[in-house]
Amino acid sequence: IPVDPFDLVLFGGTGDLARRKILPGLFHRFAVGQMPQDARIICTARSAMDRAAFIELTRSSLLKFASAAKENSSALESFLQTIDYVQVDAAGQDGWDALSKALRPDMVRAFYLSVSPSLFGPIAHKLNNHGIATPQSRIVVEKPFGHDLESAKALNADLRGNFEEHQIYRIDHYLGKETVQNLMALRFANSLWEPLWNSTHVDHVQITVAESLGVEGRGEYYDRSGAMRDMVQNHLMQLLCLTAMEPPSRFTPDAVRDEKVKVIEALEPVDQSDIVRGQYRAQGEEGSYHDHSGNPQSRTESFVAIKVNIGNWRWAGTPFYLRTGKKLRARSSEIAIVFRDPPHMIFPKMEGRRGNAMIIRLQPDEGITLRNTIKEPGPGGFRLTEVSMDMTFADALDQHAEPQDAYERLIMDVIRGDQTLFMRGDEVEAAWAWADPLIEGWQDAGRTPAPYDPGGSGPEDALMLLHREGRRWREIM
Ligand code: NAD
Repeated sequence: IPVDPFDLVLFGGTGDLARRKILPGLFHRFAVGQMPQDARIICTARSAMDRAAFIELTRSSLLKFASAAKENSSALESFLQTIDYVQVDAAGQDGWDALSKALRPDMVRAFYLSVSPSLFGPIAHKLNNHGIATPQSRIVVEKPFGHDLESAKALNADLRGNFEEHQIYRIDHYLGKETVQNLMALRFANSLWEPLWNSTHVDHVQITVAESLGVEGRGEYYDRSGAMRDMVQNHLMQLLCLTAMEPPSRFTPDAVRDEKVKVIEALEPVDQSDIVRGQYRAQGEEGSYHDHSGNPQSRTESFVAIKVNIGNWRWAGTPFYLRTGKKLRARSSEIAIVFRDPPHMIFPKMEGRRGNAMIIRLQPDEGITLRNTIKEPGPGGFRLTEVSMDMTFADALDQHAEPQDAYERLIMDVIRGDQTLFMRGDEVEAAWAWADPLIEGWQDAGRTPAPYDPGGSGPEDALMLLHREGRRWREIM
């Protein structure tokens, strides 16, 4: 469904994110006809260059990062026609009048801030002061949204001083992933699962976001952040919320986000013994976190595993285990709902039985697996075995075309004015209010993160977090 024509102003148009994700995402939407021909993308950055030079830069980015651009040169040329470039100093006075002139009246305006968060406030203020922000405008901000509760509150205050909450779109690109949205469809469009979706039937939940790469190239930034701030407070928290939330009464942005906030507010304080932090260490070429971060004394975690309890009627007694890390065995993300054993087992005990589980794979190969226990085939007695019912979305829906990137979906939602897949201000603050004491707690304890070998599944202590309770993590594959 095509969206209405719009003017999108992309701050940070020459930056890494714009070149790798945002412009390719817009190109894909243009190529399939969702972005109308008369939409305009006005890129801005600090660099002095004319439109022709910026178009050349964008052409080379698209040929590199948007595979369809190579095959569809006429779409590429038409898309480039929609792009303009205006040099703007976000922190100073230059360029704002030119930007104002480049915009059309009576058009949906979206300002996408793909720049350092230190510029969010100044840009919001200038858009307002120069009369560029209109009542139909939206402002989109990238992560990280704050470093702690205090800084997140300050960012919220800066944005809300210039835009209404209904105009503010805080991106968490995990929410743009198909499977993450499918989690809502799976839960609330089927009658099969919801009766089982509670502590009576679910033993525990595992949420894993594993990366195989280290922090090479962005070590300095990462070292000030760490896995807790970079991944848990935002992405894993969003996955936890969508898994644990109550059914909203309507599928509207605020009804969905109200339920997510309630989950965050129901999180119990986490004991330090329920947190494991790790840091990858390796000899030789592969390099250690300390080499990659350029900080030999660093205590920043490149891995974290946490046991989280949700204090409400649905989930009391069902722990949620979260883990994320760099330099692990594979790049894979999943949510595993592990069900309780049958109350009474009439069959001989099966060695290594893991029990029923629903595994929601976010990457690679987005899809859902259901693990069932069945009878082992053959006449040799009655033995049990486990099989998986596997549904890979690409196979099931015959969609082997290029997968849609999370950014594409989210940018079109901004134009449509749909905030469902964006974080509300109170949601971000609640997540920081939960994360801050954990981070302060381990800083006060002064402990160093446990070392782990690259290519594995993290530190030994993380395995123990489940073993000590008679559970085990799923293999990272
Ligand atoms: P980058 O350093 O590659 O690009 C920054 C952009 O900001 C450039 O276009 C630069 O010209 C512009 N800029 C800087 N100072 C400016 C000023 N005073 N006035 C006008 N323009 C100015 O950064 P990036 O990697 O593209 O990241 C942009 C934002 O997105 C950051 O907030 C980052 O945390 C976030 N982010 C990036 C990624 C990623 O993969 N790169 C992923 C998630 C979030």
